Amino acid sequence: MLTPDLLVYYLANVIKVAQTDGKMNAKAQASLKEVCKRMAVDKKILKEAAGTVARDGYVLMPVGRFSDKVMNLEDMLFVALIDGSFSEAEREEIQGFVEKIHVTEQQVETILTETKMKLDIQMAAAECGQCGTTLPPGAREYPACKTPPG
Ligand SMILES: [Zn+2]
Repeated sequence: MLTPDLLVYYLANVIKVAQTDGKMNAKAQASLKEVCKRMAVDKKILKEAAGTVARDGYVLMPVGRFSDKVMNLEDMLFVALIDGSFSEAEREEIQGFVEKIHVTEQQVETILTETKMKLDIQMAAAECGQCGTTLPPGAREYPACKTPPG
């Protein structure tokens, strides 16, 4: 369990990555909310984290134990991937963090693959608002109406 002052940085890291490609989209905001819920983050901490990121030149800062840092990295990769791609800018942003916490490139790739699978499962579980069908694993569009989830 992270102390509130460390939690600010944990969250700031996720927000920073989520904002790397511009403004956070609805999906990124929803997953940030999930992180807040899981980590029991209150409004005050969230506000502080947003303020920390808003300061010029905020650099991702590893906090807590190794397991906290890895979980933080997983959360960052999740918000980075949720907009559909892992951009070069996002990769660069995370690179410094990865080096500081001493995980290997191979471990990052493993986490990336797992995160992609998690996202696929999440997308598959979502029903289409129009036709009500669910997305089969790996599918890019709903079977009935042929529209992509979005
Ligand atoms: Zn549909």
